[in-house]
Amino acid sequence: MLTKTGNGGTGLSRETVKELLRLFKEAQTTPLSFETLADVDRFEESLEKEVGLQPLEPVDITDKEQDATPVILWCRQTWACVADLYSNPANAEGFVAELEDSGESEEAHRFTEPSTGSFWREAVAGLPDGASIAAVILYSDATELAKDGSATGHPVYVSLGNISSGERWKPHGRRLAALLPDFSKHVVKPGVDVARRRLEIFHTCLEKILEKQKEVESTGMRMKDPLGVVRYVRPLLYAYVGDYPEQCKVAGTKMGNQTRFPCPKCLISNENLANADARWEYRTEEGQKLTLAQLQAFRGRTALARAETVESTHRVKVGIWGFPNGSTTWGNPYRSLMCDVMHMSALGVYKHMVDCIRAMLPDKIAAMDIALRNVTAFSRQSLFRLPSEGKHYFANRGVFQAFEHQSVMQVLPIILELVNAPAAIREVVSLYVYWHTEVWLRPYHTEDSLDVLDLLTKKLVAKLVDVFGEQQSSEFNLPKVHAMLHVVDDIRRGGIPAHYCTDMYEHLHIALMKRPYRTSNKKNVESQIARKALVAELVDILARQEEGAEDSAARNGALSQGPIGHVTHALTFIVEWPFRLVKTTRYTIGMHSSLEPLLFSTAGRGSPTLLLLITPLTTQMHKDSASYS
Ligand SMILES: [Zn+2]
Repeated sequence: MLTKTGNGGTGLSRETVKELLRLFKEAQTTPLSFETLADVDRFEESLEKEVGLQPLEPVDITDKEQDATPVILWCRQTWACVADLYSNPANAEGFVAELEDSGESEEAHRFTEPSTGSFWREAVAGLPDGASIAAVILYSDATELAKDGSATGHPVYVSLGNISSGERWKPHGRRLAALLPDFSKHVVKPGVDVARRRLEIFHTCLEKILEKQKEVESTGMRMKDPLGVVRYVRPLLYAYVGDYPEQCKVAGTKMGNQTRFPCPKCLISNENLANADARWEYRTEEGQKLTLAQLQAFRGRTALARAETVESTHRVKVGIWGFPNGSTTWGNPYRSLMCDVMHMSALGVYKHMVDCIRAMLPDKIAAMDIALRNVTAFSRQSLFRLPSEGKHYFANRGVFQAFEHQSVMQVLPIILELVNAPAAIREVVSLYVYWHTEVWLRPYHTEDSLDVLDLLTKKLVAKLVDVFGEQQSSEFNLPKVHAMLHVVDDIRRGGIPAHYCTDMYEHLHIALMKRPYRTSNKKNVESQIARKALVAELVDILARQEEGAEDSAARNGALSQGPIGHVTHALTFIVEWPFRLVKTTRYTIGMHSSLEPLLFSTAGRGSPTLLLLITPLTTQMHKDSASYS
């Protein structure tokens, strides 16, 4: 096993680095190993004490009357995450602590970052004491960990609207707040409605992790911003991001267009989902509580189920209730529910539209796939990745990812023109691509551009129904189509929709959920994932210290080596406890791009234990790679 080199901390020997690499490779395919669990506990304790990192801890929320198996929530307070992110010097660049009066006119005002929307302005005006705002972004989503459905991960992540969108996706820009209970092995007592019980558990968990955040929203707290300025801060829920089913779960509302009010945010009726001129009222905590009180009067399952469908609300106490400013227009938690690009567009309305085209132009499918392959031949952009040749997109052979749909979408108008598709279809597809670009790719909006977007959205929704309505089983009367109509209001409230992008979080699933699961012993998976999140944070803190002390010449030197193409630079940290950084080394690993923080013990029993942490620092194009084509 690895031992400390005897060179007094001036650098690791080549042999040691070789050994680190060997261990690293091994650790990618074998379970993370610790000598004893007690070792890990000690390490975590020292982290909390000396670095201020609060680990995720198990909370037993089993209800003995209802649950036959234990229900465990791994969590820390969202407030702990918010405080850490708010004070983190790494988030200094572009951080918004206070609204500045730019003196611009209403016409010239640009809606970009969250602080440019009405939410921020109205909240500042609505708070009694001129407090600074921590604009909390929550995101949750369940993901399958095992292919056979025997394990799911359900993380809740926290980020801040104050952090510039350039920094928010980086490790120091977000935190894992909780792993909600895995229901794949959950059993309820006889006679208990399992779906209702699980929804109840979900909300109990939300309530638990939001407890402190709600308390500080009402009291405020003095703390430093990333630049070290002491401010009086109140956390406010700015956005809760999730796909449509997750939003309905958070809202405690029924989903699908068979229920009377299928939108988690508002009370639009199900027959008006694709009606561009229909108006809606937002749901409110007060209104939902009244509905709950009505539902509680029902006895008997059938009567209750019927009432729930009519009211489109589940009989459950909702975790996003109870924010001190929840009854204001800007603080209304239902307004914070946000759908992201991938689920609303690429995997939502766009996909339905392509299905309609397939049904309407059966004899052009082959020609469209040939046209698509010709596009591939001259496009080699990294953000534009069309399905590979083996797949036939229009013939619908193969499994397509969101990025593939998005890429095809961009060239779809050209392809339809090449195959001489009917003008009506070409028109609505072009409108769609234009809409998608205006919503998701525009860096900012103005009052004028929002007026245009409003007209564009209404025209597009009407055309979708007109041209494709007969091909789609609900005639495009879908919650996702209705969600398109919320976009303009949402931009006025909180800036451009790029802030509700789930790509970053979905990507985290791979590093923080799926790989730890694959390399775990399949028991106590949550504890291993929780540990991994902590390690990622520690590595982030260490990497920042290293950045500060870093000699840029050394970095350039490292860049000039390695193979052509992508070069990954990695940092290793060797740490011992009580917490002490023994050694940091930077090295280049060549073509690997899937490096991630790892933590493993490298000493035998009885000797001082060392921990090795490896993190990818950057993945950059090698300077010679310009000639790579
Ligand atoms: Zn709505």
